[in-house]
Amino acid sequence: MTAATLFIVATPIGQYDDLSPRAVRVLSEADHVLAEDTRRTGQLLAQVGVKASLVAVHEHNEQQRVQQVLAWLQQGKSLALVSDAGTPLISDPGFVLVRAVRAAGFSVSAIPGPCALIAALSISGLPTDRFLFEGFLPVKSAARVQRLQAVSKESATLVYYESRHRILDTLASMIEVMGADRQMILARELTKTYEQILQGSLAEVSQQLQQNAEWKRGEMVLVLEGHRQTEEQSLSAEQQLWVKALAQALPPSQAAQIMAQVMGGKKRSWYQMLEEMR
Ligand code: SAM
Repeated sequence: MTAATLFIVATPIGQYDDLSPRAVRVLSEADHVLAEDTRRTGQLLAQVGVKASLVAVHEHNEQQRVQQVLAWLQQGKSLALVSDAGTPLISDPGFVLVRAVRAAGFSVSAIPGPCALIAALSISGLPTDRFLFEGFLPVKSAARVQRLQAVSKESATLVYYESRHRILDTLASMIEVMGADRQMILARELTKTYEQILQGSLAEVSQQLQQNAEWKRGEMVLVLEGHRQTEEQSLSAEQQLWVKALAQALPPSQAAQIMAQVMGGKKRSWYQMLEEMR
């Protein structure tokens, strides 16, 4: 194994089998395994028969561990960083360490694997070409609404981590800021025995959760459709004036035909827009 390297090792989010063979090799050969919770990582390693020197690195002591980690790398040791589940640094500790190790000129190498946000996105049926991961929303309602307002016109798919205690409040804030109709999926307990995917509009999923307390349990990822621009919103002010003038002067079908010819797009969607404007 490469010496003087910090390996960032992804671990399962529910199934021990999802730990890759390469991850097992790196964890067994590392001089020290830096773990968010040594007891939890100890259980995972016991499952795969790995004995390791475990060192606690969590959000409260990460900064203090930096010097020790740099000293080990200086001695040519190889280190592996894991979090409780999934990919370290993704809403988990590790950023402070990785930044310091890179700045000191040592190599950082990824052993990729499970990540709840990617798993949820990949099965969401929502566009994946552009997405924005927003992590956890603030707990306080005013701050949460503010964060949602900042992305309410974002057209990329939005991905959030959420706790079962706050999911209903979060859905209520989303409805307040983005309207009740946006499509979403709520991916619960991914890869675990009671994995469940709820799908529908924000209002529908919120209603389903209120009706079934069971569904508010476990870990969850929320994937939300991005803002959809209507053709009217994407027109310039001048184009909007032309559209309004045509709509007043001609029957909708004729006006839609002209607009499709001049501005492109489908006659049907222009027709719909004109009907809405009348
Ligand atoms: N680093 C992790 C990753 O790569 O996904 C995420 C850690 S973050 C502290 C924990 C959050 O991830 C949970 O509150 C939940 O939102 C999400 N999560 C983790 N495991 C999950 C699972 N099996 N199913 C659904 N969501 C999960």
